[in-house]
Amino acid sequence: MSAYNRQTFDEVMIQNYAPAEFIPVKGKGSRVWDQQGREYIDFTSGIAVNALGHCPDEIVAVLKEQGETLWHSSNWFTSEPTLQLATKLVQKTFADRVMFVNSGAEANEAALKLARRYAVDHFGTQKSKIIAFKQSFHGRTLFTVSVGGQAKYSDGFGPKPADIIHVPFNDLEAVKAVIDDHTCAVIVEPIQGESGVKPADPAFLQGLRQLCDENNASLIFDEVQTGLSRTGYLYAYMKYGVVPDILTSAKALGNGFPIGAMLTTNEIAKSFSVGVHGTTFGGNPLACAVASKVVDVLSDEKFLEKIHRTSELFMQKLAELNQALNLFSEIRGEGLLIGAELNANYQGKASEFVKSAAKNGLMILVAGPDVLRFAPALNISDEELQEGFLRLEKTLREMV
Ligand SMILES: *Cc1c(COP(=O)(O)O)cnc(C)c1O
Repeated sequence: MSAYNRQTFDEVMIQNYAPAEFIPVKGKGSRVWDQQGREYIDFTSGIAVNALGHCPDEIVAVLKEQGETLWHSSNWFTSEPTLQLATKLVQKTFADRVMFVNSGAEANEAALKLARRYAVDHFGTQKSKIIAFKQSFHGRTLFTVSVGGQAKYSDGFGPKPADIIHVPFNDLEAVKAVIDDHTCAVIVEPIQGESGVKPADPAFLQGLRQLCDENNASLIFDEVQTGLSRTGYLYAYMKYGVVPDILTSAKALGNGFPIGAMLTTNEIAKSFSVGVHGTTFGGNPLACAVASKVVDVLSDEKFLEKIHRTSELFMQKLAELNQALNLFSEIRGEGLLIGAELNANYQGKASEFVKSAAKNGLMILVAGPDVLRFAPALNISDEELQEGFLRLEKTLREMV
């Protein structure tokens, strides 16, 4: 028996989270075991982070090898794994240049600062307006909660960074009404993740691209959740065929080892000249070695094809359950980022479903109060998926 249990959390941890009653101690693939040895099927992958499942052998091998070689040297020195990862990201995306950070919020913080600095450098200090979307989520630093479209995350911390405006998602006319030559950036999630798995309309993203071009504003895609093949494309912009000026990536980049990245063009990157922005840990050799291997596996064509097949199977199984039980008003998403919106009878009850699933040995997520979110590992096996759906069916039947 461990000396630590869930009660310890309530005693020694700041209570800004309310974790599940059970404590995971071990994971392999899409299975997790708790302190009591109970087994769970994981349909969350650590919020779209463990894209290759728990402790994948090939990533563990890299972690061990780099762990015995060089962990950290600071940005006064560069490293081979850093350069290797950057080269891969540049080769595989629109970007010419990369900066590494440690999280999604930091990637967005860097993106927003870069867009502002680029506008100041080229057009003057009056060009500082940032257009963002209601219900959007971009992280928890003061700048990123202020840009995010959910006041509950940004209120109560004193004065907010200024000149940020929020308009409804998927509403191009609303953007047209506020964009002008004082606008430095538009930031958007190609699929709003945290607020309910809501995909952008292709015409909306195309329209944003055009409006940004007309107004000399940078188009920032927050792909922290949608990136790294979560949608069945290495980055979701590739599916939409709309190329941003700045892209942020994190979550799955290290398969659970913390790392984030900001990608951009040569032209914009110039505004981050020596000393303008930085971070102690960002781009350290250990994180970059791990991420470099993750990117190799996740960008493989065969791997991407398999995600489309798994996605179809997942959607089909959810639809079958819904036909039998009539719980969801809509099932939506791309690839293996899937939201099931509870119908009028179950409003506000998403987190009850999560608790009930845990009792049946299944880990699932919410996206807001009314949406169940599924983000399984991208390499989940058919067997793990079938077993997970048996537990999901049991859970849903108990809830109707
Ligand atoms: C998770 C997430 C973030 C924040 O990432 P952190 O690593 O928690 O800072 C930002 N944007 C989107 C779209 C996310 O899903």
